[in-house]
Amino acid sequence: MTGPAAEGEEDDPAAGLAERKMRFLFALRSHGVTDARVLTAMERVDRGLFVRGVFSGRAYEDMPLPISCGQTISQPSVVGLMTQALRVGHRDTVLEVGTGSGYQAAILSQLARRVYTVDRWRRLVREAGDIFRSLGLVNVTAMTADGSFGLPDQAPFDRILVTAAAEDPPGPLMAQLKPGGIMVLPVGQSDHVQQLIRVTRTENGFDYEELRPVRFVPLVEGLGNE
Ligand code: SAH
Repeated sequence: MTGPAAEGEEDDPAAGLAERKMRFLFALRSHGVTDARVLTAMERVDRGLFVRGVFSGRAYEDMPLPISCGQTISQPSVVGLMTQALRVGHRDTVLEVGTGSGYQAAILSQLARRVYTVDRWRRLVREAGDIFRSLGLVNVTAMTADGSFGLPDQAPFDRILVTAAAEDPPGPLMAQLKPGGIMVLPVGQSDHVQQLIRVTRTENGFDYEELRPVRFVPLVEGLGNE
């Protein structure tokens, strides 16, 4: 099912775990993840815990991988670049939309005071919550919700990270951003390459910056049935 990887992409099974993790960090740096706090967080959070089954052997490769409910854990260098673009401070309250495996939320938990992460699939939320508990990550809470409406009970947020693509930034998320707050999200049509953008809430409105092209699964309305 995994099929042969392109030359140079496949993890050398003979390489020890330590060496594979070292290559993982090297790949992050060479893709532009240079923020020391982000790199330290990514060194601490073991991606191998968030990938199950046949793909678990590829957890330290810089590629997205399938997880439950037909979703994907994002490519580590993209996780790093998005986290870096979010400029998370240690006193921040962060909302992540799209828990998926929980990997991105676990990294945010190293950098922020409080992290809320939501997904439309109960099963993903339960599995991610189990990992957070086993790691003793007490400042991250996973909940089942349609994240396009944000999380009104916990709003406003200093930072919002959306890891599924919408055609436009959802209005409720914009409204739940504090003044001076930052939201990073992919926008564009789901079957195309999308743009990763950074939205900053200013005194008078919002500033928008285009960061890079990315490809994410779509932000879908309503809850999943698992
Ligand atoms: N951040 C994840 C990867 C996200 S994949 C990780 O670190 O592994 C995108 C996720 O967004 C999927 O799990 C999908 O179920 C979720 N999603 C899509 N639309 C959503 C919505 N409206 N509300 C909440 N989650 C949504």
